Amino acid sequence: MSNSTARKRVLITGGAGFLGSHLCDRYLAEGYEVICMDNLSTGSADNIAHLIGNDDFEFIKHDVTNFIHVNGDLDLILHFASPASPIDYLEMPIQTLKVGSLGTHKALGLAKSKEARFLLASTSEVYGDPLTHPQNENYWGNVNPIGDRGVYDEAKRFAEAMTMAYHRYHNIETRIVRIFNTYGSRMRIYDGRALPTFMRQALNGNPLTVYGDGTQTRSFMYVDDLVEGVWRLSQGNYSDPVNIGNPQEITILEFAKEIINLTDSDSEITFEELPKDDPQVRQPDISRARKVLNWEPAFDREEGLMKTLDYFKQKVLRET
Ligand code: NAD
Ligand code: UDP
Repeated sequence: MSNSTARKRVLITGGAGFLGSHLCDRYLAEGYEVICMDNLSTGSADNIAHLIGNDDFEFIKHDVTNFIHVNGDLDLILHFASPASPIDYLEMPIQTLKVGSLGTHKALGLAKSKEARFLLASTSEVYGDPLTHPQNENYWGNVNPIGDRGVYDEAKRFAEAMTMAYHRYHNIETRIVRIFNTYGSRMRIYDGRALPTFMRQALNGNPLTVYGDGTQTRSFMYVDDLVEGVWRLSQGNYSDPVNIGNPQEITILEFAKEIINLTDSDSEITFEELPKDDPQVRQPDISRARKVLNWEPAFDREEGLMKTLDYFKQKVLRET
């Protein structure tokens, strides 16, 4: 840990990804020196291009499943490296398991040696296809360990267990954020997640592909709310997991219709097979975040989607 007068330094693994790059921006704005570490497997140098040349920013291309070396002191590690969209982790099942397990172990080892605080990006997927609704942090989840999604869900569950073990046995200061579906600029339009897919399809006038009958629900959070939640969690003293998500729940079919309206599109809706183990419902109980972080989302879905629309329009224009 650096002395109190020195500049604070944060390592952000997965910092060239969607969420990681927004966190790089926020911690720089808060006066931190930011070291962004990423192997660019699902992230992109474009996401951090605007930061290259900033003296307080450094990019290190590295796969965090291998030993991590960082020069100098560190105050904080935000461990965000991991494929996150179902398409990505189904294409990279072993890498997903490795980054959640070996990568988390390496990042925790680094936190121990630097006496840095460690924050794990966990996920609502630890609840699997939940049998309680909404989900609060005391629910242990309903995950199929050998199902297709198990590579992601179990990696994150292991990562949480490893984080708590370092906390209990090595007295590392740790934080665990369970992130619910988040959207915003810097998402890839082909990452396969519902929102970028629907935006791309609607803006191109193509049919929106709703999986199953579309009655499954999700609760979508705007990226600025996630960043604020992570910031508060990293600055506070609460070490049990905290849900960060927007409780506004919607069925996927209604969501597809909402995107068609928002984009003023003539697109139709088609129905395709529901992927295996696709959770039927998902909605965060954010009582804990309200209580320990005084946090709740500042953007409702309509506002957040409006703020995101221009980004997707430009992305779609660029590829035509
Ligand atoms: P993303 O794919 O945009 O970012 C992940 C980043 O990690 C990428 O830049 C990728 O190149 C990097 N990475 C992957 N494996 C790596 C490795 N072995 N070594 C170094 N870098 C590696 O995804 P995202 O949506 O920004 O998600 C970031 C984190 O947040 C993930 O840990 C994810 O599980 C978690 N999360 C995201 C959401 C969401 O809705 N976006 C929800 C829950 C949890
Ligand atoms: N989904 C869909 N059409 C698509 C992509 C996704 O109907 O083109 C569904 C998916 O089956 C899931 C929901 O939308 O029920 C949210 O999917 P996403 O991949 O965005 O997030 P996750 O399933 O990880 O919550």
